[in-house]
Order: sequence, then structure tokens, then C-alpha cells
Amino acid sequence: MLTDVYPWQRGIWASLNRLLVAERLPHAMLFAAPAGTGKRRLADAFAARMLCQSPVADTACGHCRGCELLAAGTHPDYYVLSPEGDGEKVSKVIKIDQARAVVSFAAQTAQMQGYRVIIIEPADALNTASANALLKTLEEPGQRCVFLLLTDQPTALLATIRSRCQLLPLSLPSDDDALTWLRPQLSAPAMAETLLALARGAPLAALALSEAPWFIQRGTLLDALLAVGSGADQPLTAAAAFAKMPAIEQITAWQSLLDDAVQQGLAPESPVRHSDLPLLKQLAEINAQCLLETLWQAVEARRLLDDTNVAAATIIDNLWLHWARATRQGGHHVRR
Ligand SMILES: [Zn+2]
Repeated sequence: MLTDVYPWQRGIWASLNRLLVAERLPHAMLFAAPAGTGKRRLADAFAARMLCQSPVADTACGHCRGCELLAAGTHPDYYVLSPEGDGEKVSKVIKIDQARAVVSFAAQTAQMQGYRVIIIEPADALNTASANALLKTLEEPGQRCVFLLLTDQPTALLATIRSRCQLLPLSLPSDDDALTWLRPQLSAPAMAETLLALARGAPLAALALSEAPWFIQRGTLLDALLAVGSGADQPLTAAAAFAKMPAIEQITAWQSLLDDAVQQGLAPESPVRHSDLPLLKQLAEINAQCLLETLWQAVEARRLLDDTNVAAATIIDNLWLHWARATRQGGHHVRR
């Protein structure tokens, strides 16, 4: 288990340790921050710190019995509450039976004579029933029992849960801190700014993005959008050229490029997120209504892909056909 926090978490790490040493930890703490900012690493490191029997310089030692059991996934005083598999799919909610199991875990005494730690992730997966089952325990979990709740979407969290947690002041790292961390990990460090902008400042998301198929192929897709928009290429020929790229990746690329182009069209002074793609300016010159309608079509395509049995290839074909129609109506031809 990684017990080191990210550089931008050192301030909050020091605060958590001060509270721990002073035995003034809240019963329940809410780690609310955008996805890709490393809050699970912070929670894991702090859980390890709480369960370690001989911490070194405020960090879990990695060698004691507590650290060994935690690394082996068998620590008796550590519990993770997350949605479970539901047949083939992972459920989106934490069920009431799971919440009840945590309540009885919290009612026991620690087996290793230290803290008991319960991680709930994502906390917004608690529905009304499972949240209600937890409320009393969250308020009074008993001696040295600490809940760490994680969420990307604090507004999706039930108010009854939120009001029982101490909100940790987690914020996005500054761009400088994020880039300092990101650059050495990239095979093309010059892409760091673009990646961070597209990941809206979340460094881990930016790193993951550097390997995402849609990110790698978005330049080719932009070329194809412009070619179809200008009539130089046929929509279904373009669709066929991307047949090997997963539909969800294609839709993500469409949305990201169109979103950026719409922003540019509305406010040409605003920074371009796809700053390495000079042709994005050409996309932004297309009629805003046409771009917005296509953006909406891409959102709809994502919904069809997620929630219906419509074949992915059909969804993508229709997106291209829409684009060809929309750009050819009313003289919205792309200048090339
Ligand atoms: Zn240890």
C-alpha cells in the first residue's frame, strides 16, 4: 500500500496528523474533491497512519503487524464500504445490508488495541435507506472509531450524511504544483499543460488522460470532422475510419473538441484547452448553433450507449450523419 501522500496534500496531511496526535480527530471526515486529485491515496495513507503501531515521522512504518495486516488486506480493524458487484455490473448504490454490516463492525471493540477505520467510497452511493441505517453510528461511532467518507460530488451527498461529517478543506493543487508533479511522468512532458487543462486541473486525471485512446486520437478526429464539414469526405467513410476506436472514447473526443470550439466561438479570448491543435480554430469558426446542436447530439449518443441496446456502430454513424447534415445546412461550410 502506498503510504506517501501527493505533494499538494502535505498541508492537509500535517493538519490530520496534528489532530491525531492531539486525539481530537472528528468521528467522521468528508474528503470531497474532484476525481483525479488523489483523495483515496490521502485517505489510505491516513488509515495506514492510524493503524500503524510504530509510525515514523508521521507516516505508517510499513513493517509493523498493523501495517502488514493492512497490506495483506486482512486488518481486523479496517473496513471499506463501497458498492458491490451486482451480477455483471457494479451496483451504483451502497445497499442497506452493507450499511448494517458496518454498523455492527463499528459496535465491536478494536482487535489490535488501536483505531478502527471505516472508508466509505463513494459516499454519494449511500441511498436514503443505507444512509439512515448509518446515521446514529456516524454520530457516535464509539471510542477510536473513525469514518473517512470520499466523494467526487459533494452536492450529490445526502444532507443527513454531510451534516454529520467534518468537511476537510481539500482543494485542487495550483497549476504549478500539478505540472511539477505531472511533467516527469509523461513521455511527452510538453503536453503537460494541455493535459492538465483538459483534466480541469486534476493531476491524476491528467496523467490517466495521456494514455486515453480518445486523447491520443483526437487530432485525427478533428481532421475528419473538418473534412466531413467541408464536404471533402463522406460521413460514413469517416465513421468507418474510426471503427476500431471504442464508441465511448469517440463520443468523449467529440464532446471535448466541440465543447472547446463552442467556448472559442463564444469567447475567442478564452484559453483553448486543446492548445496543441491549431485546427481547433477552424472548428470554432463553424456556426455556433451547429456546434451546439452537435454537442447535444453527442450527449444524446452517450445516453443511448449507456442506457439502451442500440448498436454502438449505429450511434456513431448517426453522429457523423448529423454532423454532415448540420454543417451543410445554411452555408456553414468549413473553410479549408
Ligand atoms: Zn506500521
